Amino acid sequence: MRRLRVYDDDAALAHVAPSGEYDAPWSGRLAVRQRHPDRRERVENVRAAIRSELGGHTTWTDVEPASRTQLERVHDAAYVDEVRDWAAGGGGRLTTETGGNAETYRAARVAAGGATAAARRAVDAGLPEVPYALVRPSGHHAQPDRADGFCFFNNVAVAAADLLASGRADRVAVLDWDVHHANGTQECFYDREDVLVVSLHQDHDSWSAETHPQACDLTERGVGDGEGYTVNVPLPPGTGDDGYRYAVDELVEPVLAAYAPDALLVSAGQDPGTMDPLGRNAVTKAGFEFLGASARRLADEHAEGALALVQEGGYHVTHLAYATLGVLEGALDYETGVDDPFEYVPGDTASARSAVDDAVDAHRDHWPLD
Ligand SMILES: [Zn+2]
Repeated sequence: MRRLRVYDDDAALAHVAPSGEYDAPWSGRLAVRQRHPDRRERVENVRAAIRSELGGHTTWTDVEPASRTQLERVHDAAYVDEVRDWAAGGGGRLTTETGGNAETYRAARVAAGGATAAARRAVDAGLPEVPYALVRPSGHHAQPDRADGFCFFNNVAVAAADLLASGRADRVAVLDWDVHHANGTQECFYDREDVLVVSLHQDHDSWSAETHPQACDLTERGVGDGEGYTVNVPLPPGTGDDGYRYAVDELVEPVLAAYAPDALLVSAGQDPGTMDPLGRNAVTKAGFEFLGASARRLADEHAEGALALVQEGGYHVTHLAYATLGVLEGALDYETGVDDPFEYVPGDTASARSAVDDAVDAHRDHWPLD
């Protein structure tokens, strides 16, 4: 089997998001405030799952924060200053749902550094190894000049830009299976053809005109040189394992094969999971094993064998551990024998196939899709 290399740092635990983000006026009358879904327990449970089931096959690696130069390849300098100064003042809410504390600036820089180190390792190592950045806060909603969706700096975008700038790659593909649209990653590379962004996400609209101006739908395909290199695949709630299989087979694989990148970076958000409070796209641990195995195979066959996984969302602190274990088992080609206790939620394969067929039609003029 392949060996797992986890990029991990306690900075991920020190970031604390504010509670009560669902405090719509009426919910203020309830007895208990909802805790913010992005909690340190997410990272703690994934760590525990890896130590328990993959410990003998894992190398744990410390992380350096991303440099200003690395961050500013995708973010405006004034925005990086804004996050730094806001955290230095103790944090709080930066947007309605995105906030943190005095540790958040460092945590966000470490997260971008972890993704970058994993991506470099994927290209440099030439070993049967899977680099995985277990980072928090997530990155894929962060845009060049703004925070969004619990994200401050776009970890996978910083990593992709670093591969290009350091001469490790001429073309990078990002596959994002987080249940939410990769609007930030899309925004970073919307007019470029050297980074392909493929986003499989629940068919949701913008949640904020201010922080999330993207529509997340089939109309967004890139502009100028980037025309065709944003591939959005909106999927219905409850898509399920077979719906994701269909999307990979019918769309993701032919697009990646045609693009033939030098590296494949995965925005691995496991919030399509069956029980996820922010998603419920009904993907089981077996479905995540398929996604992890697909990423490995697609990287081997179409991306020079260079694969890095970067943690994004996943908010049910128990199912996230099962789901992430599934991703890693698939990517490592290894079975732990751990069963998913939540796999009884059925998927809506018919609706999912219909949505994938619509996406294939929308992207057919640019990519060799049947
Ligand atoms: Zn998400």
